[in-house]
Amino acid sequence: MAKVIAEMLVESVKMELPDVKTVRFQWPEGYDPGDFKTGQFITVYWPHKIKYKRAYSLSSSGLDKGHYEVTVKRDGKMGTSIVDWVEAGDKMFVIPPAGRFLPVFEPPGKHLICVAGGSGVTPFRGFVREATKRNLDTHITVLYTVKTTSDIIFEEEFRALEAENPRFKFHVTCTRLAPEHPWTGRRGRITPDWVKSFVTDPANTVFYACGTNEMVAAVEHLVLHDLGLPKEQMKLEKWG
Ligand SMILES: Cc1cc2nc3c(=O)[nH]c(=O)nc-3n(C[C@H](O)[C@H](O)[C@H](O)COP(=O)(O)OP(=O)(O)OC[C@H]3O[C@@H](n4cnc5c(N)ncnc54)[C@H](O)[C@@H]3O)c2cc1C
Repeated sequence: MAKVIAEMLVESVKMELPDVKTVRFQWPEGYDPGDFKTGQFITVYWPHKIKYKRAYSLSSSGLDKGHYEVTVKRDGKMGTSIVDWVEAGDKMFVIPPAGRFLPVFEPPGKHLICVAGGSGVTPFRGFVREATKRNLDTHITVLYTVKTTSDIIFEEEFRALEAENPRFKFHVTCTRLAPEHPWTGRRGRITPDWVKSFVTDPANTVFYACGTNEMVAAVEHLVLHDLGLPKEQMKLEKWG
């Protein structure tokens, strides 16, 4: 089968948080995704609503074959329909992976600083999974902003990957915790100084930002103006 839009079976679902669900789409027999890459997104739609399509980053990696995984937050029409209704055995149409939000694994030894807000962390699971599985010498630092500790997606998996991969670091900052909350990690919004504190070799660093337009624009400003680096050292994914 050529690389085409395919109707895919939902093989399984997993609630990551009360409002975030991972959906695994099984490739149909003979499906050929071509050379899709970690960090790309697929576009999905319901068979009964073919005009309503939405993009979701792969939260699985390019090494994961036989299925795609996306991780969706309950938000708006499609986000709510997926989180509240999709279950194993359902079918949805899937437009093959596209996009250029790709981890720079070549040349080796780069430092990828990945800034994420809320569900914007999803593509970075793929980045870290691939780098860890291939034992790459790429350094990856995920800087993740969430409202509270209850909003951290993939926390267990990221902590396990951090223990397995000495070149991966996972840092969370919470913006809306009550002062009496026992969280000992960082609080407050992502600031230029915080991001800059992780930059040891600017020329060898690639910045990624994924999430709201506002957060992504702030990272863009930081890279271009505060750090004075060329736009080639930055990849942005704006979700709206
Ligand atoms: C490349 C790419 C990758 C993405 N990857 C992911 C991903 O991995 N996970 C993920 O969860 N999302 C992802 N998104 C976002 C996703 O595509 C959708 O935009 C998101 O699920 C919301 O779509 P929707 O149809 O549910 O919202 P819509 O119904 O189109 O609504 C859009 C926004 O408007 C708000 N809204 C809708 N109606 C009202 C109203 N009456 N009053 C006020 N506000 C309203 C909604 O809350 C929502 O925030 C990605 C987007 C892009 C472009």
